[in-house]
Amino acid sequence: MVKSVLNILTYFEPVKTLSRELNDLPNVLYNPFRNQYRGTLVNKHLSSLRASPNSVVLGVLDVDAYVEPLNFIFGLATPYLMTATVYVRRLKLGANEEKLTTRVLKEVIHELGHIFGLEHCVNRKCVMSFSNNVFEVDHKELKYCEKHYGELIKKGFKVSNALKLTQ
Ligand SMILES: [Zn+2]
Ligand SMILES: [Zn+2]
Repeated sequence: MVKSVLNILTYFEPVKTLSRELNDLPNVLYNPFRNQYRGTLVNKHLSSLRASPNSVVLGVLDVDAYVEPLNFIFGLATPYLMTATVYVRRLKLGANEEKLTTRVLKEVIHELGHIFGLEHCVNRKCVMSFSNNVFEVDHKELKYCEKHYGELIKKGFKVSNALKLTQ
């Protein structure tokens, strides 16, 4: 899983990646009444662990989380903190290791898309479409639609065209 995530990050060049194991998340980030982590606070916490300035922090966490008013989130991007998270726990539903990895990668590039300024997409195949459930995650591709891919390029991000949806 970690290897696959690090591999997809090489599609965004030039990029240097540093991967670290995370220690337990502080209790204050957890809401015991909901048995879930507070997404906004988790991103603030991860942002404070940043190893180098001007970097993006991406947390891939095997826990469940939420932000009000949602019941749960698959991920959360906080662009001003350049920090994004992907929550693996609910992506596991009905998935073997391979399917789970694909779902995680989709949510990783979805959240990175937000960090790089992209909004949600009406194209259900585009990875920037919002997913309410794992079936919608499965339905979308591990790629950006032409419009969103074009936006990334226009902003100066060098993104491999392997992540561009052509149809
Ligand atoms: Zn989103
Ligand atoms: Zn799109």
